[in-house]
Amino acid sequence: MEIVLQNIGKQFKNGTRALDHVTFTIPQGEFVSVIGPSGAGKTTLFRILNGMETPGDGTVLFDGSDISSMSGTSRKNVKKSIGTIYQDFCLVENSTCLANVLTACLPDMGFFPAVFGIYGKERRAEALKFLDRVGLPEKAEEPVKNLSGGQKQRVAIAGVVAMEPKCIIMDEPTAMLDPNGRREVIATLHELNRQEKITVLLITHYMEEVIDADRVIVMDDGKLVMDGTPREIFSRVKELKEYRLDVPQVTELAYELKQAGVDLPDGILTMDELMEKLLPILHEKFPEVK
Ligand code: ADP
Repeated sequence: MEIVLQNIGKQFKNGTRALDHVTFTIPQGEFVSVIGPSGAGKTTLFRILNGMETPGDGTVLFDGSDISSMSGTSRKNVKKSIGTIYQDFCLVENSTCLANVLTACLPDMGFFPAVFGIYGKERRAEALKFLDRVGLPEKAEEPVKNLSGGQKQRVAIAGVVAMEPKCIIMDEPTAMLDPNGRREVIATLHELNRQEKITVLLITHYMEEVIDADRVIVMDDGKLVMDGTPREIFSRVKELKEYRLDVPQVTELAYELKQAGVDLPDGILTMDELMEKLLPILHEKFPEVK
């Protein structure tokens, strides 16, 4: 699903302008991270994309169609093809992972049939398939409350994937997780994006989660202020700092070294890259060190 935002503006009743002429296109299958300081308009953008908020100005097109001018059924279909994930996991903690995923598979039946095991073998196999896709088939019969935060969020993702979305949008899905949990969730999202070509739009304030995205959009004060690959964006450390944003730790270290006179390129994203550039320089300066 291609998503096009044209000149999106949003002003709230109290006069706050949360979005101001935001324009960008996300082709099907792209992995896009959105970053920006608090109050930049990221959540408002998310809420417009999942239909919880309507834009004041501009147009949002899903595969060329404007959702605001669609009939009820078409609108429902578009909404179904956009999966949403939030900070909290939106799971029933006392129920098993399988029951939680089944509820997503059987949205019309509600939660209770799944909780009481009223589902056939086929449904069970289907739900297991989705737990398998997020790497948790062995947790099927485990109550959600026994899982780590990262695993819980992966069960939530399995539930969304069960609805066969073309796109998953997320507002800080790892905000409540520890570093391991964050890595698990981001790796799962990349896997789904790669294997199933699901478009991913990830709002985050963890810069490490942005490095492997196809594209990074930077927002500030309701406006889109940068749009590029992670390397392009993280080559502009000074500007990012002006927007009160961090950069990945390795990028920061490389930036500081460069400021101190070490001849390094801009936009280093990983420790391997840094070492590859730094070691020849160190060997030249200190040939006696092996
Ligand atoms: P972010 O997610 O980047 O922190 P938000 O989209 O939550 O930014 O908010 C953007 C701006 O809009 C902020 O100044 C915020 O206070 C304001 N805002 C958000 N929602 C509302 C609302 N319902 N009513 C009034 N102002 C709002």
